[in-house]
Amino acid sequence: MPTENSFRDTLFDAGLLIASGVDGIYGRSGEFESVVDGIDGLISRDGGMPGAEVVRFPPAMPRSVMETSGYLKGFPHLAGTVHCFCGDDRAHKKLLQCLEAGEDWTAQQQSVDLALTPAACYPVYPMMALRGPVSAAGHIVDVSSYCFRHEPSVEPTRMQMFRMREFVCIGAPASVLAFRDMWSERGRVLIGALGLPVAIDVANDPFFGRGGKIMAESQRDQALKYELLVPVNSTESPTACLSFNYHMDHFSEIWDLRMEDGSLAHTACVGFGFERLTLALFRHHGLDRSAWPQHVKTALWPS
Ligand code: ATP
Ligand code: ZN
Repeated sequence: MPTENSFRDTLFDAGLLIASGVDGIYGRSGEFESVVDGIDGLISRDGGMPGAEVVRFPPAMPRSVMETSGYLKGFPHLAGTVHCFCGDDRAHKKLLQCLEAGEDWTAQQQSVDLALTPAACYPVYPMMALRGPVSAAGHIVDVSSYCFRHEPSVEPTRMQMFRMREFVCIGAPASVLAFRDMWSERGRVLIGALGLPVAIDVANDPFFGRGGKIMAESQRDQALKYELLVPVNSTESPTACLSFNYHMDHFSEIWDLRMEDGSLAHTACVGFGFERLTLALFRHHGLDRSAWPQHVKTALWPS
């Protein structure tokens, strides 16, 4: 396989991704988006969770949600917060002077009460907590959002803004774990049917710092996270295109998410990375989607 950088160049040359000058921030062509839409439709049709509640949040959430959720403990290096100009005419003049002089104008910006959504499921837990106890049958939420992570990279599969669709399950421990395990099998079948070579492996989140190493080891030891891997940039280090996460009562404790019997709920989520799956398809079936195998086209765009 060619190197990461050359795959990104190939995508730029084909016009599928549009360079912005910043690694990890790209425009997407109509062709690229047709594939994203195809994957989205496939997830709804063949991965559909009857009874799941569909919710869509914007790609920013209250800063308090990021603070409460513990994201800054584990991933301060990936977090993005929103800053805006909140000054008067004098401050505006100063800002324009800085800009003209090529000086740093961002010191004039103030933090507002927003943070960029790091994973589509983050706004779901406070939403559920506000509703009160979860019924014994549990609840499934279908959520999708642009997400931000400050991880600039030349690997086209590692973007700073990308889309994730997730099914989030909130309920009793055994049924939540069963949901996660059912999905790792269903994910393999769903994505394997697209003619992609898939493997499932235990994984860990990229926790920050020295303490993070211990958290990552514990996550692996308990097999809380699995990823569905597809070679995209290279065969040696395949790319996580789906993840299957069992949080136990981590988020429930934070948000006081309880079952009707008063016990803490457990939560799990399965996350599909739209851009990574789309790039995997272009990588394995070629840049011209009209020439893709018929069964792949039928799966993505039936009728
Ligand atoms: P990685 O280990 O490669 O950083 P991850 O497994 O930690 O990714 P999750 O936090 O589980 O990622 O996110 C769910 C899904 O979102 C991933 O399976 C992947 O498809 C997608 N994703 C995560 N990070 C990125 C990114 N930087 N660019 C594009 N897609 C991403
Ligand atoms: Zn999630």
